[in-house]
Amino acid sequence: MAFLFNSDAARGAVFRTAFARGLPDLQFFQAGEDVDPDKIRYLISWVTPDDIARYRNLEILFSIGAGVDQFKLASVPEHVKLVRMVEDNIIRMMQEYVVLGVLTLHREVIAYREHQDHEEWRALAVPHATARRVGFLGLGMLAQAAIERLKPFQFPLTGWSRRRKEIEAVGCFYGEDQFVSFLEQTDILICLLPLTDETRGILNAPLFAHLPSGARLLHVGRGPQLDQAALIEALDSGHLAGAMLDVTDPEPLPAGHPLWLHPKVLITPHIASVTQPQTAAKFVIDNIQRHRAGKKLIGLIDRTLGY
Ligand code: NDP
Repeated sequence: MAFLFNSDAARGAVFRTAFARGLPDLQFFQAGEDVDPDKIRYLISWVTPDDIARYRNLEILFSIGAGVDQFKLASVPEHVKLVRMVEDNIIRMMQEYVVLGVLTLHREVIAYREHQDHEEWRALAVPHATARRVGFLGLGMLAQAAIERLKPFQFPLTGWSRRRKEIEAVGCFYGEDQFVSFLEQTDILICLLPLTDETRGILNAPLFAHLPSGARLLHVGRGPQLDQAALIEALDSGHLAGAMLDVTDPEPLPAGHPLWLHPKVLITPHIASVTQPQTAAKFVIDNIQRHRAGKKLIGLIDRTLGY
């Protein structure tokens, strides 16, 4: 029985050490090493390996990232369980980033950066936090963790998900019927949805039109969820006041792209959360142990929903 690490060698070395301690009975291989494919029961990768069909006894395919949209699900055999990365650092870093983003948009940091370019010393009015409504598209693990960190700031908090939710001190909207009502009461919109057929292009002109005038966008989901031209139009028309984007399409954003130099846009290079090898290895080891004990896996993907 063996585990195959199909990603960068540096993180692989950290995994190897952790596996030697945590699962000493499991053989460990890194991509490129000579391995009998029939031995591989568990595999971790960023994308679906081209030769996945070789691993006929594969039981679990782990994603090294928090999403699985980059996998070609059709080429993963039905019996293989697909598991996303759910490790403490991803959660902690996303909490930091969302707080940073909301405060950046709330306290006009993007406008002040532009003022600084012109050596302009000018204060802008800021509403009280209780008057700035913050809404999450997606109320999953990361959104709920970020919400807990935002609560002390007193922003009215809401979120929208597929299924009905109850979260203390959060206005919960769900389903298509409540989508517009959710948007109409959101001043800072945070996208933390997984990329699926249903969420591709969801941040588009009609969505922006439903947001109140002066609303702002914090996008931390996936680049293809955003219609970038529609965003630029909504910003240029003055309907939206600003956007902070951690994800774009494509990544990296090409030189000369209008988003790079837009005065109302702040871009970070997909760094909201980064998988840390020590905690990631612990998560994978714990999950393999759960699997062996017949327990439910953490981060198991529902392949019919795509997340
Ligand atoms: P979860 O799977 O825990 O949560 C997803 C949420 O989205 C759920 O609330 C789900 O609703 C909701 N959702 C999905 N599809 C729909 C839909 N069609 N309509 C309404 N709601 C929908 O995911 P996480 O919170 O762990 O992560 C979210 C995403 O964040 C990841 O998939 C990834 O793309 C992105 N991410 C970005 C990072 C970055 O560095 N920028 C780092 C890590 C993740 P329901 O609860 O009803 O199922």
